[in-house]
Amino acid sequence: MKTFVVLMGAPGAGKGTQAKKLEAALNLPQVATGDLFRANLKNNTELGQLARTYMDKGELVPDEVTVAMVRDRLSQPDCEQGAILDGFPRTTAQAAALDALLSDFSAKIAVVPFIDVNQDVLVERLVKRAEIEGRADDNVETIRVRMQVYHSETAPLLDYYDEKGLLVKINGEQAIDEVTADLTQVVRKVM
Ligand code: AMP
Repeated sequence: MKTFVVLMGAPGAGKGTQAKKLEAALNLPQVATGDLFRANLKNNTELGQLARTYMDKGELVPDEVTVAMVRDRLSQPDCEQGAILDGFPRTTAQAAALDALLSDFSAKIAVVPFIDVNQDVLVERLVKRAEIEGRADDNVETIRVRMQVYHSETAPLLDYYDEKGLLVKINGEQAIDEVTADLTQVVRKVM
């Protein structure tokens, strides 16, 4: 059976860290739209140049561009058994597109773990990450915009998935390995 997992959580909740750990533990590829955009940026592709204008401001790249990129990625052979989606979907339009896309693959979302972290902790983590990784979009102004975008565009998806009975809340303020253990357990149940 195919296992598509949608990892939800605000910027700084630890989605990337956890998706990488799940990738190893469950042998499912991590598909992170932010990473895909950053790879395009680095290789200076047309897609990268377009994405940069949005990413630099902390805004979302338009849905049709993002969805097309995800469709491409999920069509790769390594995603045949499923994937861990990290940072996608981020809008209700993207969520609808994902449902349609998976139905084309005769698949559906298995579970939507939500890594829950308090707002103050999130900002603190993002500022720290800015110092360590030097990500261009981890500055105070961009962090503020990304949080706003998360609350207005992405947070409504929590209700969308909850109504479908797919949402499982995970305490994201535990130690990294404890969060991984909770997530692994939740995903294994649906594999
Ligand atoms: P992330 O690494 O997930 O925090 O993403 C970094 C940036 O890439 C975001 O602030 C957006 O500009 C862009 N991005 C990543 N995923 C998406 C998405 N699903 N839809 C639109 N833009 C995205």
